[in-house]
Amino acid sequence: MVGTGYVGLTTGACLASLGHRVTCVDVDEAKIARLSAGRVDILEPGLADLVVRGIGTGRLSFVVGARAAVAEADGVFLCVPTPMGAGGSADLRAVEAVANEIGDVLPSGCALITKSTVPVGTSKRIRAMLGRADVPVVSNPEFLREGTAVADFLGPDRIVVGSDDLAAARWVGDLYGDLAAPVVVSDAASAELVKYAANCFLAMKLSYVNSIAELCERLGADIDLVTEGMGYDRRIGRSFLKPGPGWGGSCLPKDTSALVKVAESVKYDFRMLTSAIDENIAQRDRIVAKIAGACGGSLAGARIGLLGLAFKAGTNDLRDSPALAVASVLGAVGAELTAYDPAVDSGIDGMTVVDDPYQVAKDADVIVVLTEWAEFRSLDWGLMADAMEGDDVVDTRNLLDPQRILDAGLSWQGVGRPRVT
Ligand code: NAD
Repeated sequence: MVGTGYVGLTTGACLASLGHRVTCVDVDEAKIARLSAGRVDILEPGLADLVVRGIGTGRLSFVVGARAAVAEADGVFLCVPTPMGAGGSADLRAVEAVANEIGDVLPSGCALITKSTVPVGTSKRIRAMLGRADVPVVSNPEFLREGTAVADFLGPDRIVVGSDDLAAARWVGDLYGDLAAPVVVSDAASAELVKYAANCFLAMKLSYVNSIAELCERLGADIDLVTEGMGYDRRIGRSFLKPGPGWGGSCLPKDTSALVKVAESVKYDFRMLTSAIDENIAQRDRIVAKIAGACGGSLAGARIGLLGLAFKAGTNDLRDSPALAVASVLGAVGAELTAYDPAVDSGIDGMTVVDDPYQVAKDADVIVVLTEWAEFRSLDWGLMADAMEGDDVVDTRNLLDPQRILDAGLSWQGVGRPRVT
């Protein structure tokens, strides 16, 4: 397993729990030392237990450097980052670096499996780079969500394996053994596209809901009731129907951008997707405007308390967090920011991060909820109100009970819902 991040570590620990012998590799020596001692940095329920158990059974080990780890492997998973590169395409340098590093030491017949999200054509490109007819390349995209990575891995909706060598693709599918999930076996290009098609669909669904929420505000409707009515329709489903401050995280922004670029490369103008991306920026700007309104029109010098920084509840991942996107616009126009997030304790440029949610209320003109941590619901809002200078709460996740905020003597405004004042 090359790369021990959210995907690589989860895949490694889970495959070890299914009975496979797994060696996890990273370039980060300190991380490998911590993992070898059973210490997991990322916040993922159940992951640390699985890692400790895997080490205990002898089926899970950690090493620095891929060359030594692959010498006796039947399959090698690439789980390295594929961030947004210059111009918006996926940056494949880490994937290519690993393929180059191990290309000549992969045993004959060993499958090279891309779990990283990579654009259509990457399997072909890796095959050409390797120049090894005896090494099948298989695409096996990962669909786990941060915050529920282990549960998602062990209870997947589906497993997708694609290769121009179908026997190799099936072999990879069989590694998942007893997991009761449909296995989609395909050509390499289709498997590579599944991941982007799915993620971009989710991003478009969120942008659509944010647009409907905006209509709700302008038309006097309530998005929570509208989406409840929509969600019972099984063709639509209930998930990904909550409005918010815009979508973000380590995957959706880079994957939407990468698919637009892939479409461009075959001269297709993917307008529906570019609109969803534009709409996401517009949503962030509407949230900023709402906060400015709550500050009396001007953000310069306004003291704003932020509840939540992670891109969603249940994770400490800050990559491309919409909370940080909103905060950075607020900071750029001179707002003074104090923030609390139950999973984040490190400093962040442009704001004071505190370790007590009540400290964000101190002298604040406005409180803004940016991440949907359930614990924000049960704060003592009377105490928050006492500490505040102003009396507005902007709830970008429609998380709080507006009546409780009102009872505390504050006013509440969410997204796509009537203001409670
Ligand atoms: P991550 O940043 O959490 O972890 C990547 C790891 O790879 C890091 O530990 C890094 O040190 C290591 N690494 C980088 N270059 C390396 C090299 N040359 N050799 C060995 N190790 C190296 O990344 P992630 O979130 O696990 O994402 C990995 C891939 O999986 C990406 O393509 C991502 O799009 C995809 N993916 C992510 C998620 C998710 O929720 N995070 C879900 C599905 C798919």
